[in-house]
Amino acid sequence: MDHIAVIGAGQAGATLVETLRKQGFDRRITLWGDEPLPPYQRPPLSKGYLLGEMARDRLLLRPASFYDDQRIELHTGSPVLSIDPAARTLTHGGGTMAWDALALTTGSRPRTLPATVGGTLGGVFTVRTLADIDAMAPAFREGAHLLVVGGGYIGLEAAAVARKRGLRVTLIESADRLLSRVSSPETARWFAEKHRAEGVTIRENATLERLTGTGRVDGAVLSDGTHLSVDAVVCGIGILPDVSLAQAAGLVIDDGIAVDGQGRTSAAGIWAAGDCCSFPWRGGRLRLESVPHAIDQAGVVARNILGAEETYEPRPWFWSDQYDVKLQIAGLNTGYDRVVVRDGDGRSHWYFHGDTLLAVDAMNDARAYMVGKRLIEAEQSPDPAAVADPQVPVKSLLPAA
Ligand code: ADP
Repeated sequence: MDHIAVIGAGQAGATLVETLRKQGFDRRITLWGDEPLPPYQRPPLSKGYLLGEMARDRLLLRPASFYDDQRIELHTGSPVLSIDPAARTLTHGGGTMAWDALALTTGSRPRTLPATVGGTLGGVFTVRTLADIDAMAPAFREGAHLLVVGGGYIGLEAAAVARKRGLRVTLIESADRLLSRVSSPETARWFAEKHRAEGVTIRENATLERLTGTGRVDGAVLSDGTHLSVDAVVCGIGILPDVSLAQAAGLVIDDGIAVDGQGRTSAAGIWAAGDCCSFPWRGGRLRLESVPHAIDQAGVVARNILGAEETYEPRPWFWSDQYDVKLQIAGLNTGYDRVVVRDGDGRSHWYFHGDTLLAVDAMNDARAYMVGKRLIEAEQSPDPAAVADPQVPVKSLLPAA
């Protein structure tokens, strides 16, 4: 194998090329990204970076010199235009190049509001890339009125930063509660209370009819007829896996690029990792949107390209920062039928299916998170009554060693 090409220079792509070298692959590696920067961290973009508390250079996962030192050919600002699975080539702005193995780590793109409802007006922003945040930052000025569309974690984090910068914030959510895709009503309610206490106006069951303005947004009309005067809009209505290259090349797509347990796509020699792909899980398929997942899966795929035959087992964890709240999530709550609330040092919500612990949301409760994570990884479940009793020390929920 002479050349491994990796398309997509985000967290998964960066981890993948680094792992190939660490595993001793010493031939040619190319990494292709359409953004101008070397791979960088996205989570701090909408928090520390937007607040002006974190410099641009600190976002980089590795200094630019790292790729030269590792003999990784990093092509920034270079979108790959097409891939040919049969000929084993890729085409970029400067020509066509042969590869022996190809990995797609193309990530996701934010869903956007259609132009017909004003989604392309100036002052309407999405939260994904450094360029998105650089465009948004000047609109985050004290006293401005920000409309946040979408009550997922992206929308809630944007609302928290905006309040910290002294903006007035209205958040609209089309569902009957916040966090409907990823969380329980208990967690949604807890965050709704927190945001309301911090001064955010939250409107659930609220649908956007259209944004108004000529050239630049100046208002919003909701479907109940409400008119809001707004200075800027942050759109946090979810993300879509970027499958464009894979789809054009005829690869199987099923909620993202479909891969097997080891990360192979339907085309020989082509692999995928991170939030662009879905993988087999508990009889169905799962696609995860999280940094720890991108890192773990990319590592497995790198080793498998070199022949390891490892099956990827997600050990999901996730975090979100809003105001003084650090939310940590262990496990996946899919299929839960009960949530047990624990009001201990902090607050935690424990998701069960029958007697089986699936996931824990811990708000400012690192201990509950650690205990939950260890239990889930060991496939052990605590007694729900003990979980609910703050007099029972959380550590005692762990099985005796
Ligand atoms: P993210 O992780 O990017 O925050 P989620 O999918 O978890 O994305 O959350 C997006 C939220 O946006 C969902 O709660 C969804 O109900 C809401 N939403 C989607 N479209 C609209 C819309 N047009 N107006 C208001 N809310 C919307």
